[in-house]
Parts: sequence; structure tokens; C-alpha cells
Amino acid sequence: MHELSIVANLFEILEREAKEKKAKKITAIKLQIGQLSGIVPELFRSAFEIYKKETVAADAELEIDIVPFKVKCQKCKTEMTKEDFILTCDQCGSNDIKSLCGTELLLETIELET
Ligand SMILES: [Zn+2]
Repeated sequence: MHELSIVANLFEILEREAKEKKAKKITAIKLQIGQLSGIVPELFRSAFEIYKKETVAADAELEIDIVPFKVKCQKCKTEMTKEDFILTCDQCGSNDIKSLCGTELLLETIELET
């Protein structure tokens, strides 16, 4: 499962962060998951809940923000939200489209208890 290796990576970052800040534990984390990042938030959440046991984030609350997939037409400069990867402009039909956000996974905040 794709989500599991991402969660494993996330925990490496969390453990490192807690060590650096000399924190006793992590109480909350907030993630931004792009709508087209390929990550299923429900799967990610259940992987997180399983993985967090016995770690510094055992009591951490996970908050997930879904970031819509936004693109900008390079021709008419219209910004629009897309539900899929069909990259043509809604306004002028151009396919000179640049993605702005919605494919990322971002660790937004980590709350620590020292
Ligand atoms: Zn356009």
C-alpha cells in the first residue's frame, strides 16, 4: 500500500523533529494532501493510527486538509479548479496549462509537548 510507506516517511520526520526540539511527545500534526496527490486520506489516516503506537506521536491528533487541484491557463490567465487531469482551459480551450497546487503532500504544522 502506497500510503504505508508515506506514513513511515512521515514518522521519520516526526521522530527527528521531536529529538531536535527535545520534545516529550507530539500532540498534533496537520497535513495538506493534494486532491490529485494519489493519496487516499482515509487510508492514510488508518495507516497513521496503526503506525503511531509505540512512537513519540502515540497520542497525536491528525488533521488533514484537502487541497483542491488548481491550474492556471497560460494563454488567457484564468485560474480554475480541476477534478481530474484533463488539462484544457474551461475558458479558451487552450492546453497550455500550468498546475498551481493539488498534487502535493505537505506537513503543515507539528505541535510538540516538551
Ligand atoms: Zn484559457
